[in-house]
Amino acid sequence: MLLKLKNIGKIYDSNGIFTIGIRGINLELDYNEFVTIEGESGSGKSTLLNVIGANDTYEEGELYFNGEETSHYSESDWERYRENNIATIFQDFNIIENLTVLENVELALLRIEDKKERRRRAKELIERVGLGKQINQRGSKLSGGEKQRTVIARALAKDSPVILADEPTGNLDVKASKEVASLLKELSKDKLVIVVTHNPEFFKEYATRRIRVFDGKISEDKLITKPKEREETEEKKEDRKVSKWLNLKNTFHIGALNYKSRPKFTLMMSFALFVCAITMFFVVAIFGQGLIKPTTTTLDHTGITGKVIISNQQNKITQKQLDEVAGKTKAGFFFLDRELSQFSVSIPKLGGMLREHEIVCLYSPYEHNIEAGKAVLVVPNSQKGDADTIKEAFLNAGIGLYEISIESSLNVDGVYLYLSYDDLNEYGEKIQALYSMMTFGTDKTRVYSFEVNENLLEGQVNLVNSNFYSADGKTVVFDAKTDKSYIVIRSDEKNNEVSGLIVQMNRGDYEAMFLSDDNAVQSVLFYKNNDEAKAAIALLPEGYIGMLSTTTVYVQDVMDVFTINILWYLALIAVGLIFAMLISVIFMRSVKIYQADFSVYRTLGISRKISANSLYMQMLFIFLPTLILLPIVSLIMAILPGSNFMLISIGNYIFIEIMMLLIVEFVAYGFNKSINSQSIRKSLRRGSK
Ligand code: ADP
Ligand code: MG
Repeated sequence: MLLKLKNIGKIYDSNGIFTIGIRGINLELDYNEFVTIEGESGSGKSTLLNVIGANDTYEEGELYFNGEETSHYSESDWERYRENNIATIFQDFNIIENLTVLENVELALLRIEDKKERRRRAKELIERVGLGKQINQRGSKLSGGEKQRTVIARALAKDSPVILADEPTGNLDVKASKEVASLLKELSKDKLVIVVTHNPEFFKEYATRRIRVFDGKISEDKLITKPKEREETEEKKEDRKVSKWLNLKNTFHIGALNYKSRPKFTLMMSFALFVCAITMFFVVAIFGQGLIKPTTTTLDHTGITGKVIISNQQNKITQKQLDEVAGKTKAGFFFLDRELSQFSVSIPKLGGMLREHEIVCLYSPYEHNIEAGKAVLVVPNSQKGDADTIKEAFLNAGIGLYEISIESSLNVDGVYLYLSYDDLNEYGEKIQALYSMMTFGTDKTRVYSFEVNENLLEGQVNLVNSNFYSADGKTVVFDAKTDKSYIVIRSDEKNNEVSGLIVQMNRGDYEAMFLSDDNAVQSVLFYKNNDEAKAAIALLPEGYIGMLSTTTVYVQDVMDVFTINILWYLALIAVGLIFAMLISVIFMRSVKIYQADFSVYRTLGISRKISANSLYMQMLFIFLPTLILLPIVSLIMAILPGSNFMLISIGNYIFIEIMMLLIVEFVAYGFNKSINSQSIRKSLRRGSK
């Protein structure tokens, strides 16, 4: 016995309202039977058919197929059951309207691996249902009869033992109905055909058995002719096992059909996604402008290697402590005050009052081994002409230098004066004060040099000038070291050998201004190179922090940067989420148009995995254009005259693309989940709307 229903019952539960679909159905059905089922509307005919076809579940009783119980079947068992055993024909045709007759029929032949063979079989079947002429017509262009014949060809293609037809002539005129009925008869050989119909007259001459259903029960079961014995065919139909490779090919095939059947949808979605990507691009670009990029700088822009700046966390560093640290780490040279190892001095340009040279004075023992009183001036080639002026300015300033050699180079970015350790130790602060400014009243004047004059009292200064300065009795303040004010005693001393202003002051004041304190917060140690310096840093005694002068450091407060950026990121994530939700909703709604198609796939026994993957693939396809278009748009934006957009960064590009991909694949996931969680009966119904 092919099919046996024992006490089958189906109860619908729609929100707590229970309706009996069918109950207590006992039936035995076999090959070669042509059964018609009649009954009033709502009597349970469709329910019965859906249970047999596994388009719906049953709650009571047991359905046997070839003697095998099915109540324990899992979803995938049912999937295989449908694929191998059932072909379904519906009243409302159920073909994929946007595909051609040929493509529709081929869908039922996916198990045939060879494409040519598949096509040949499909054509043969289409000829058999008399649609040879319409083979390449779209489903939507066919008449009702032609559609139903396509469905019949598809049922034939499946070559399954059970054919179920639910009011197949319900929407057809008399002529088409008769054709469909005779076709059904034709394919009923060696099969079980069950036809639910309101028009039994079309099937009168073919039916071998008539069943009437009333109120969910069988009210009449009449044998008309005894079905033929089944000719035992030798070859037992083995379970159709499909290779992974074929599955993959079929996934591609269906993905391509999804696309082909709705090119406008695909284009629209691609476009929508592209618009989203572009919007995200702007959001991220604006976001990027709000984001604080930590600004970094090296501690020492001259990039001297082997120079370590050390500081003591608790106390200031005394000379004694520095000696110890230097000894312990085998430092070559060291300074108590790190400012002395590098500072700059501005020297006026010859004949140009406002323009000046900025000279970086620095100490770098391993680059130029310099003796006391000697210095090395390094100038870029472009400023070679000024070298002598600068040299003279230093030699004439009375700061202990008597010989300066000049080097010019193509690859320096400024003017540097390398000084000896002794000069820095002794005159360092005085050199630093060279050409410092003096304020008296509202006037600012450049001081050329400072001298000691033992005759002056504390707080008094004499101005010695190459020009005449009348500032007697006025108060002056120097920006050299202190902000103490001094009284100008005399300003009429003239010295024709100097080109600027010399300030004379008492020894105490002079020392207060120029001699370094005994201890400092930071100091500098020099090592042969960065490697030795790094090794030395590791050896520093506890409580000391050491840093290479070439190390990059953050300019802003790290916490500020962190907090502000976190806020920006939160905002971006919020915008992104809202956005993702919006497009997901739009996509979710749009993708519903595939519901009917996917139900057709399912009734054809195409596995969920394949149809689900085909949608993922299609989404990937929809996604592809943004992959190419986004950088192009970004490029156009960047080269547009007057635009301040930058080319999208790789990070942002990846971020946006991944987000878009996630969204569309999430939509596919949602769609697949929703369609798989409902029975075929339900999804068909919704989809047909
Ligand atoms: P027929 O095909 O004979 O017209 P059906 O099998 O469609 O009848 O329906 C049988 C009974 O089950 C009817 O009372 C109908 O209202 C009920 N029914 C069918 N489908 C559902 C459903 N999805 N939810 C609730 N009740 C349903
Ligand atoms: Mg019905």
